[in-house]
Amino acid sequence: MAQEKTIDQKVESLLQQMTLEEKVGQMNQYNGFWDATGPAPQGGNAAIKYEHLKKGWVGSMLNVTGTEETRKLQKLVVEESRLGIPLLFGFDVIHGYKTLAPIPLAEAASWDMEAIEKSARIAAEEASAVGLHWTFAPMVDISRDPRWGRVMEGGGEDTFLGSQIAKARVNGFQGDDLSQHNTIAACAKHFAAYGFAEAGKEYNTVDIGTSTLFNTVLPTFKAAVDADVKTVMNGFNILNGIPVTGDVFLQRDVLKGKWGFEGFVISDWASIAEMAPHGFAKDLKHTAELGVKAGSDMDMESSSYVNHLVQNVQEGKVDEALVDDAVRRILKVKFELGLFDDPYKYCNSEREKEELYHEDHRAGVLEMAMKSIVLLKNENNLLPLAKDQANIAVIGELADDKNSPLGSWRIGSDDNTAVSFLEGLKSYTNNVTYASGPKVFNKDANFLNEVQVNESDTSGMEEAVTLAKESDVVLMVLGEHGFQSGEARSRTNLNLPGLQLDLLKAVYEVNQNVVLVLMNGRPLTIEWEAENVPAILETWQLGTETGNAIAKVLFGDYNPSGKLPMTFPRSIGQIPIYYNHFSTGRPDPQPNVFWAHYSDEQNSPLYPFGYGLSYTQFEYSELKIDASDQSAIKVSATIKNTGSVAGEEVVQLYIRDKVASVTRPIKELKGFKKISLQPGESKVVEFVLTDAELGFYNHNYDFVVEPGEFEVMMGTNSQEVLSQTFEKQ
Ligand code: BGC
Repeated sequence: MAQEKTIDQKVESLLQQMTLEEKVGQMNQYNGFWDATGPAPQGGNAAIKYEHLKKGWVGSMLNVTGTEETRKLQKLVVEESRLGIPLLFGFDVIHGYKTLAPIPLAEAASWDMEAIEKSARIAAEEASAVGLHWTFAPMVDISRDPRWGRVMEGGGEDTFLGSQIAKARVNGFQGDDLSQHNTIAACAKHFAAYGFAEAGKEYNTVDIGTSTLFNTVLPTFKAAVDADVKTVMNGFNILNGIPVTGDVFLQRDVLKGKWGFEGFVISDWASIAEMAPHGFAKDLKHTAELGVKAGSDMDMESSSYVNHLVQNVQEGKVDEALVDDAVRRILKVKFELGLFDDPYKYCNSEREKEELYHEDHRAGVLEMAMKSIVLLKNENNLLPLAKDQANIAVIGELADDKNSPLGSWRIGSDDNTAVSFLEGLKSYTNNVTYASGPKVFNKDANFLNEVQVNESDTSGMEEAVTLAKESDVVLMVLGEHGFQSGEARSRTNLNLPGLQLDLLKAVYEVNQNVVLVLMNGRPLTIEWEAENVPAILETWQLGTETGNAIAKVLFGDYNPSGKLPMTFPRSIGQIPIYYNHFSTGRPDPQPNVFWAHYSDEQNSPLYPFGYGLSYTQFEYSELKIDASDQSAIKVSATIKNTGSVAGEEVVQLYIRDKVASVTRPIKELKGFKKISLQPGESKVVEFVLTDAELGFYNHNYDFVVEPGEFEVMMGTNSQEVLSQTFEKQ
């Protein structure tokens, strides 16, 4: 009996049959919305795209969804093109398709990898049920700049946490077996350093040194590759003078060379063509040459490859072997997805009906949402509220909003499908009166239509203040609009937009029993709020189950355990502010000497990385290090729940390499564990440090572990830690 061919053999024999035009076609991805009534996909150059599809000159489509629509396009290509190579349907499934989980930054605040993996699994279940094979997620860009709107889409400022999240999300999307009908290929993006845009301005230049590139930026991508991510997306930005889309070192030497990545690289939207306006390529034809040479395998929507690559090869500018390499990678993913066995396996309309908004998915995102909430302040145990709490005032436009809490990057979802804050609260109690206060945002804001903020019309203020005066407790629901963050949504102010702080101050003047419920897609500067308001709950944008999740936390049915994945600055001028910075070499504050500080602001952040409270308290003691086995150094501490309710704590482990050939940060996260403790209960939590945690990348991009003294810190956040040292031989 003949042996079944391996995927590599199948790829090879298909490649042999392909013309140069067909090969280049596989490297072409078009955007297109399929009009079910018409003959062709709608969108720019629809007729050309349609012809190219029939000729097999398109390898993938993005932004086509629905079993009916994808089936129709798949059929066109499979039946009419010469070789019938199935299309790959890609889409931005960032935090869910229809049922929405919290935005990724919020999920990161859970520090709960199991929950994050499950959330990605839910997204994959729904996305695969509408004909999609591939999501452009996770975004694994580390960023230290909350002015950048896309921090909502990532895992925050820390590389260790970000790497764990990258792995969890890739596993969630791709599952154990990519050939199943409910798993989809993932895409780690944006390779690389997009999150370091100067001044937090979208698409801006990035100029960083090797220490930051190798130790802070690249490891999250490496983690995704190690988790077998099938695709990587490059980016729009220039990095140290070279557009990353045309960067040979990043894509060929590091990703496909050193790391052995076997999947394919997709460009970002027209980022191949953008190499011309960047001043790196002279025209579109030149961009095709530079893109393929650098290792960008598939061209998203710029038509650079489909129009110019064949000619580049024929003129001897591009070696056909580079085209072959790209096509092999793309075909391999299609085989792994099982599309050659059945190109319509994702086009099951029964599944589509069953999966979308499935109740299990709603339960899953509710769980995720509760885990994402961070308690920032809780003076006099104002929270949780008693279930029979009388006279509750709810104030703030966002409390009654079913759209904004869904967050940005949700192009597959339906508007106004979140359980609003008020709806969630009312499922607990009827003792609620609502006043919106002054209008803050325009109602028609969306992904493309920027948010307008009312800065002057105070109507509604008086009514809200009167209500506050008559109430026992005031829940102020304030923050950013969901579409104030996301792509192309950089901000130079990180305060509460519009008249919201004025409203809060006016309310506080008449009633100090205020709980501030924040909804935002990035860290905000909330210094006045933090000083004055007795209780603050950070709820980000929590997706479909927003109101239910917040109500459960407010009434104590869920004890918050989230921890900040990004530092909250006191003021905008401190940015970038992050916990794992280097020492300035200057001593601690002394009067009248030139120490590293601002004349008008403290050095410390408002809330540090890793910070978050609980309705109970945890006490850390007995930090111990056992370095007798140098290949597995054991670090442990005892954590006790000293409060009166059960709670979960994220125990964090940091290290500092005190002297190294390349200076190391004052602190770096190297482990964390989430534990749950009953009142009075203690647990010993142990971490094992190996060379993988103790080493770093030097300027040659070699991973080195150097002997010498290490400081080890364990604690409840990056600032409050117990500390000890050990000697690494
Ligand atoms: C974004 C990518 C996204 C792509 C496709 C680009 O503008 O930068 O992250 O996947 O569009 O929608």
